Amino acid sequence: MRTIGLIAGMSWESSAEYYRILNEEVARRLGGLHSAKIVMISIDFARLEAQQTGNRWDEAAADLAQVARQLESAGAECVLICANTMHIAAPAVQAAVNIPLLHIADATGERAKAAGLNKVALLGTRYTMEQGFLKDRLSERFDLEVLIPGKADRDLIHRVIFEELVLGKILPESKAAYLRIIDDLAAQGAQGVILGCTEIGLLIQQPDRPDIPLYDTVRVHAEAAVDWALQE
Ligand code: GLU
Repeated sequence: MRTIGLIAGMSWESSAEYYRILNEEVARRLGGLHSAKIVMISIDFARLEAQQTGNRWDEAAADLAQVARQLESAGAECVLICANTMHIAAPAVQAAVNIPLLHIADATGERAKAAGLNKVALLGTRYTMEQGFLKDRLSERFDLEVLIPGKADRDLIHRVIFEELVLGKILPESKAAYLRIIDDLAAQGAQGVILGCTEIGLLIQQPDRPDIPLYDTVRVHAEAAVDWALQE
């Protein structure tokens, strides 16, 4: 089994899910007392959030590249950025190390394509919904048309992530708002919804909308990492 490297703490609420799912998935596949081989470095989210709002993306990317180097030195054989937003720094992180970066959009795009989807909705931070670093990869590599919510709904989704989910607050009114947005996107033709922020799976899960596939990027990314770790 190969060792999985995690750049974590974006936020720790979702990194805990990565840690749990990676271990559960290895145990499920190998049985017995097996668990995942993991090196995890968890950053201070307050510093990252200030870099994001201050538009200091290069500084944030340099921080993550440094963490990736530390993971590699500690024995990690691949690296995962445990957030969608900071895949904006994926090129800098990959360039800093000799081990592969397992990209969250590749894991997700493969899943949606294998299910035969052509048009998907993407929910995430404002950065993820409005910039191209995930959307373009999904359309260029997987031929997926990507729908995003309108401005007011993007603001709502972003606010809930930063004021509630990263603090572990799960509120029923926010869940209802997210489900209403999913229904609107489905009415516009979305055949599936990418939960493209690693905290959204804490708020909504597949049983909340059994009629449309929801791709929780934590689960999809973690399962792809286990595929990789077990394929020697
Ligand atoms: N976990 C988040 C994501 O997946 C958002 C936190 C951040 O801004 O890094 O995008």
